[in-house]
Amino acid sequence: MAKITKKIKTIKVDADKCNGCRTCEIVCSAHHSTPQYSTINPAASRIHVITRRLRDIWLPVFAGEYTPAECNGRDKYVIDGKEYDECAFCRAACPSRDLFKDPDSGLPLKCDMCEGEDMPLCVEWCLNEVLIYEEREEEVDEEVLLDEMETGLEALMEKFGRDKVESAMNRMSRNG
Ligand code: SF4
Ligand code: SF4
Repeated sequence: MAKITKKIKTIKVDADKCNGCRTCEIVCSAHHSTPQYSTINPAASRIHVITRRLRDIWLPVFAGEYTPAECNGRDKYVIDGKEYDECAFCRAACPSRDLFKDPDSGLPLKCDMCEGEDMPLCVEWCLNEVLIYEEREEEVDEEVLLDEMETGLEALMEKFGRDKVESAMNRMSRNG
């Protein structure tokens, strides 16, 4: 089976250093606004800082996958004596909360690692060095990559319908 090199991008979060300044939310929302940098709206950011001052909790969480179904379980974490909210560490845009949904359209938001930039902007602008960017390469079977792509396409079609996905792909291939 053919092997392909896949680039794995990671942002490590050193939450103890976070002071809740929310610069990461500001820069992310500005970068993803249309036209780019035209507006700032932390509610449209792909990173959200959970802030519980009285509990000394400042926790940056990145938007992950969209899920159409709410899960039945809830996780509760206590770390260094601090009790975190249920769902605090979950990255999903899901029906049980407003987090990681575009405030205007309601569509799910997902961190894209600032595709096209040399460095994710939230990492670049976090002056407390809470967010640490790492990159590595892994050899994977070509088939695994194709499976991942098909799963992603199926999810998009389920959410937006086949026609919209096809017209978006046609538009993207024309723009080139
Ligand atoms: S920019 Fe850094 S310190 Fe400020 S809220 Fe975001 S992660 Fe925390
Ligand atoms: S990596 Fe880019 S898209 Fe992801 S949260 Fe940071 S600024 Fe937003």
